[in-house]
Amino acid sequence: MNITCDQCKETFTASADQISFISDSQKKGMRFIMLECPSCYSSFSLNPLTMEPPVPQKTVDEDHLRCPCDSCYGLISYVNNPKSFWGCGECGTVWFAKADVSDAIAKSIEKHPYRAKVYRKKGNNFFPVPLHNEPENYEETVSNE
Ligand SMILES: [Zn+2]
Ligand SMILES: [Zn+2]
Repeated sequence: MNITCDQCKETFTASADQISFISDSQKKGMRFIMLECPSCYSSFSLNPLTMEPPVPQKTVDEDHLRCPCDSCYGLISYVNNPKSFWGCGECGTVWFAKADVSDAIAKSIEKHPYRAKVYRKKGNNFFPVPLHNEPENYEETVSNE
């Protein structure tokens, strides 16, 4: 299976892990997933149903918020496909309004107060903190929830 990286435009052969991730997400009807490119090591998004990048994608300040779902430390991206939504590339959860994302984050912080450390709150909106400001064991802690 050949995949073209949306960042460096390099085409590569999907690894066995990536192929099973893609077929799982196709079965679940997920509209986008994040894959890591073996050439440039950046993450890029792909619509597993069409195998095309879900473009046009607008970068917004809230991009790369940590997913608020239990035991998921995926990153949320804003996708225009063509209907816009917010989605986690790891667990496939989607939100159609920014307020719903904020609600979900607020609830996850109530349940797991340490999660507040990966967000900055402005008014009712959450923004991601830079990755190097996150607690070191964040991903491990979340995966143990
Ligand atoms: Zn690349
Ligand atoms: Zn998630």
